[in-house]
Amino acid sequence: MSYLNVTEIESALVNLQAAYPQTSELVTLPHLSHEGRQTHVLRIGAQGSGDTDGVLLLGGVHAREWVPPDALVSLAADLLEAHQLGTGLVYGGQSFTADDVRQIVERVNLFVYPCVNPDGRSYSQTTSPMWRKNRRPPSGGAACVGVDINRNFDFLWDHTVHFAADSHVQTSSDPCDPQVYRGPSSASEPETQNVVWLADTYPRIRWHVDVHSAVPDILYSWGSDENQSAHPDQNFLNPAFDGVRGRPHDAAYGEYIEPDDLDRVRTLADRMHDAIRAVRGDSYGVEQAYSLYPTSGASDDYAASRSRARPDVAEIDAFTIECGHSFQPTWAEAENVIREVSAGLVALGVAAASTIGSDEPPVPSANSIALVRQMPGWASIPVAAADG
Ligand SMILES: [Zn+2]
Repeated sequence: MSYLNVTEIESALVNLQAAYPQTSELVTLPHLSHEGRQTHVLRIGAQGSGDTDGVLLLGGVHAREWVPPDALVSLAADLLEAHQLGTGLVYGGQSFTADDVRQIVERVNLFVYPCVNPDGRSYSQTTSPMWRKNRRPPSGGAACVGVDINRNFDFLWDHTVHFAADSHVQTSSDPCDPQVYRGPSSASEPETQNVVWLADTYPRIRWHVDVHSAVPDILYSWGSDENQSAHPDQNFLNPAFDGVRGRPHDAAYGEYIEPDDLDRVRTLADRMHDAIRAVRGDSYGVEQAYSLYPTSGASDDYAASRSRARPDVAEIDAFTIECGHSFQPTWAEAENVIREVSAGLVALGVAAASTIGSDEPPVPSANSIALVRQMPGWASIPVAAADG
């Protein structure tokens, strides 16, 4: 066993859809990467794409973080197979019943997008293991390649305007910054545009999880400044606070979050945390994203900000899971982390399904305690041969 390359990831999605046509749909993203690669989302759900609420799961935004794409492919296979067999799932010490699986597949749409940045993953797996960005060619007189997709989203993107000069916000306008170059403009990158397209095209997406590695940690919004619920005017849309955002422990600015929104995202983060910890006892922790460091242009904040900036779109609860303890662990350890990510995301799916009302709840399964797929792996996943 080893990590999937980008060809194997895309072929796994194509072949899973072919194997489970009643409960999945292949969605082709409209924007090719700079190197011409096409990516797919596997939508898992027995209902139509617009018929119920959705969960968007992203992996591979950062090239060197090799586990998350494999975890999302494995999770997709687990859910589709368990649903078809009418069984549950077990990940180490965390188990889910057949009814849990059915609630997810039949009540929710899971949009699984395992490889957001295929050029970067390919470059990391073949040439430069610690590469993080995409592979945007040099432009504008700069000699350097790549944009950090997770600094390219339209959320307080221009840090030189929106953040305090001494905030230490982790982003850069220097194309040669090897880690956090934000790009020439917000949403300039095809990878970013694909994620935005998903949110625009599937307006019933209400949950967003961007799976990264490795801290480990479960992060909820916001990433721009400390959360506060007392001053609604202190928010990312208000230019009166440009130049003061991002400083720790000051009274000048905190990012506003409604109290019940904060309660809800913390409850969901705790659910994911508890399921992850049950797998093998590893405690990831739950934190506001800002507690890691201040950021701008991150996918989770962009997702959470959409409804605040545009009241006509659905509110999205957004998270980042920083899984495991290293970017490219041994495959044996990667399997453990895949179990953890899978457990956390299934727990979120169960919680999401429980919030969606239904006149006809699914009939409890006769064998709802049966459990399968003790091991993640590709044995039952139709992956095409690697192209190196
Ligand atoms: Zn990352």
